[in-house]
Amino acid sequence: MKSVPSLSSLIVITLLSISCNTPTRDPFTRETTAMNTFVSVTIYDSDIEGARAHAAIDSALAEVHRIELMASDYSDTSEVGRINSHAGVESVSVSPELVSLIEKSLEYATKSAGAFDVTVGPLVKAWDFLADHPRVPDQKVIAQLLTLVGKQHVSINGDKVFLKRRGMRLDLGAIAKGYAADRSSGILKRLALKRFIVDIGGNLSVFWDGTRVLDSTVAEILIRHPRKDGEFFGSFMMGTGGVSTSGDYQRYFVHKGVRYHHILNPATGYPAQGVVAVTIVASDATTADALSTLVFVLGREHGMEFIRNAAGVEGMVVWESGDSLVHDLSPGFEKQFIRSND
Ligand code: ADP
Ligand code: MG
Repeated sequence: MKSVPSLSSLIVITLLSISCNTPTRDPFTRETTAMNTFVSVTIYDSDIEGARAHAAIDSALAEVHRIELMASDYSDTSEVGRINSHAGVESVSVSPELVSLIEKSLEYATKSAGAFDVTVGPLVKAWDFLADHPRVPDQKVIAQLLTLVGKQHVSINGDKVFLKRRGMRLDLGAIAKGYAADRSSGILKRLALKRFIVDIGGNLSVFWDGTRVLDSTVAEILIRHPRKDGEFFGSFMMGTGGVSTSGDYQRYFVHKGVRYHHILNPATGYPAQGVVAVTIVASDATTADALSTLVFVLGREHGMEFIRNAAGVEGMVVWESGDSLVHDLSPGFEKQFIRSND
């Protein structure tokens, strides 16, 4: 790993007044880095002892590392790495878990007519936003790499995954962190914990027993301002569910006055235009992660339409109009979101 993890797009504040009768106690929390970003696991159960809480956090973090080892594309030995290094040569047998995650990713490609596409790997590599001095790739290079992008070039047969063209690469960067948050959260649930938050680079899985996604009593989520360091764009309340933000300010560089960022439009090979940030709230973090990227690429109108039509999904799209930022909210989110004064 060669780069510093990017700052999280979301900050969590949990309401301590949730149970007024019990004395509040500091939650058990641990922060680390994994999957090229900041990870934290926080347990808010009030009746748990330290040793048990820390053992649970160990298990939750081990799960994040397990998924990183499965899904990272920057290692030749991960399962995804093996699929990529055999592109155009032969199929590779992988775990049923990874097959399911790839299948789910390909379904999002179908649902978005290719706006979300985990075969963008060759383009992501060419843009290399993690490099010390990233550059705009040559137009000819982009045109050539576009021939390696598309779900029709992936075949899955049982546990075997084959990338049909040499040079193809799967990149699960837009879904794996949300998935890891869900799996890690699943471990904590199995350990009978009732209140916790797993945060993987701003992809959050919140679990608060007995609450619903847009519950207004559990956790306040602050969304980083896309253009002002250290400031917030707005906030909202949520309960059990997943949330994620995708933005053009997480990994980017500016060249000749143009901002180039890490969310690519698979149709053009260039960064997706027209949107600054997308926040999605859903019943799980995998959905929120995938959809925040998908809606970003679809753009303002089609993106909002996608959110409105997706069951159990709420969200916000932010774009630039002159010097100011404008936002649009799905109906359910409208009641929750409070924009900061900017
Ligand atoms: P972050 O990784 O910053 O949380 P996202 O979830 O939006 O943000 O994922 C962006 C990452 O997904 C990129 O760094 C890249 O690896 C990959 N990616 C870029 N464009 C697409 C796309 N159109 N479809 C699927 N994955 C993409
Ligand atoms: Mg995403």
